[in-house]
Amino acid sequence: MSKTLIIGCGGVAGVVIHKCCQNSEVFGDIMIASRTKSKCDAIAEKLRGTTSTKISTAKVDADKVEELVALMKEYQPDICINVALPYQDLTIMDACLECGVDYVDTANYEPEDTAKFEYSHQWAYRERFEKAGITALLGSGFDPGVTGVFCAYAQKHYFDEIHYIDILDCNGGDHGYPFATNFNPEINIREVSAKGSYIENGKWVETEPMEIKREYDFAQVGKKDMYLLHHEELESLALNIKGIKRIRFFMTFGQSYLTHLKCLENVGMTSIEPINYNGMEIVPLQFLKAVLPDPASLGPRTKGKTNIGCIMQGVKDGKPVNYYVYNVCDHQECYKEVGSQAISYTTGVPAMIGAMMILTGKWKKAGVYNIEEFDPDPFMDALNKWGLPWIEDFDPKLVD
Ligand code: NDP
Repeated sequence: MSKTLIIGCGGVAGVVIHKCCQNSEVFGDIMIASRTKSKCDAIAEKLRGTTSTKISTAKVDADKVEELVALMKEYQPDICINVALPYQDLTIMDACLECGVDYVDTANYEPEDTAKFEYSHQWAYRERFEKAGITALLGSGFDPGVTGVFCAYAQKHYFDEIHYIDILDCNGGDHGYPFATNFNPEINIREVSAKGSYIENGKWVETEPMEIKREYDFAQVGKKDMYLLHHEELESLALNIKGIKRIRFFMTFGQSYLTHLKCLENVGMTSIEPINYNGMEIVPLQFLKAVLPDPASLGPRTKGKTNIGCIMQGVKDGKPVNYYVYNVCDHQECYKEVGSQAISYTTGVPAMIGAMMILTGKWKKAGVYNIEEFDPDPFMDALNKWGLPWIEDFDPKLVD
């Protein structure tokens, strides 16, 4: 029976744990290990008796390779699902290398003090993972994650070349708070307050934060304003999908969110530069995180749907092809099923599926890979089966 170590016990981890427990055939034995063990124990307690998956828990500081290695040596996992924070990616990869454990994450490494995420840090592990004969699957959430699988699926079945990709991430949900973030506030605010960028003709084009705005009419959600952001999957998709001329990423934001964010930025609350307060060093953004609602608490309050997908334009047999593939997910349905809102759900389900692809041997190959480098078909089937069905549109409205 396979053994799975899940690191982190926040919003996304909660969904991963529920989904592994629904899928006991593959995930017969899991260990939940995080910084705050009481959270791991609480979810284990909630699930015990509802699943045939064996659940154990542990405390670990995932910033410390030696703690991770000790835990892995004791538990002997086959695979480790990293749903802690992007800052821990490299320490967890180091421990996996030392213990010969396969690795899955949902967000690429970002140094805590620079707010710049890129794949170079993790791609540098390729040779070592190859030599150790273990697999690292990077970015197995929704975006990155399912968006990459959507592109690989389109490339395999509908295109000879894909020239333009627009990834559209719409959250039509309302939690009723004037300002809150749907996942870890620190990571979320770092992402949206950074400069925007996209890739055109092989080069990054940089924009001011939120400079490029479009309106789009999303199926089952309606019209929303969306803004061009830098996003990590642009970097790998531009390399792995054939014929790309331009690839962009848009995310929807409501006016209340943007007004609050601007104000917080203007007063310095989103800064990651430490300041001295009453003789103590604090990072304003980390302090802000402490006063904002915990994303895990948004579940019961959030109503509405998400719609996330990719619009692609390219050619097949010399003829132009337009293709849009997306998933619609209902916040309240997710809450009923696993006790989380749709942002955690759409990230946690693909993380479980990615681990299942490796454990069942479908995606088992030595090295470090982005998700679009694997055969998309079994993953696409699993999305339908495990709660994230997708919809295709061969005549989509394009984004100008
Ligand atoms: P949360 O903040 O809710 O959870 C993070 C968890 O990691 C917490 O349980 C936290 O512990 C734990 N943790 C943090 N630091 C350490 C450490 N040093 N050692 C051990 N555990 C630690 O975040 P989310 O669940 O919202 O996000 C999880 C990941 O998912 C993030 O990397 C995020 O970027 C990614 N994500 C990816 C998406 C995608 O589509 N690809 C979308 C959304 C999120 P504690 O409980 O003590 O705070």
